[in-house]
Amino acid sequence: MIIGKHEVRGKVMDSFTRCEHYHSELDIVAIKFACCNTYYPCYRCHLETAGHTAEAWPKADSNKKAILCGSCHNEMSIEAYKKADSCPFCHADFNPGCENHYHYYFG
Ligand SMILES: [Zn+2]
Ligand SMILES: [Zn+2]
Ligand SMILES: [Zn+2]
Repeated sequence: MIIGKHEVRGKVMDSFTRCEHYHSELDIVAIKFACCNTYYPCYRCHLETAGHTAEAWPKADSNKKAILCGSCHNEMSIEAYKKADSCPFCHADFNPGCENHYHYYFG
């Protein structure tokens, strides 16, 4: 699905980047994977549809813009996303539970 200017792959359900696996009101980010430089709504989408092993971003890449806000479709860096409870652009709230899954995405 094309969301904003970006292609988001996987089991995407809406333009907020919600997917079959995570689709609460707060599940509104897509994350770009280091292995394919492609946005997916979640690691399970990548696992089920990418056809290759997922790679997390190394710590040195924390300034890389790898997070897409599903509400306003702006991108932010990994570092900015880790610090934010809500989108720095549109202030939509993010899911605090995502923090438990950082290791799937970022080093
Ligand atoms: Zn990949
Ligand atoms: Zn998913
Ligand atoms: Zn936003």
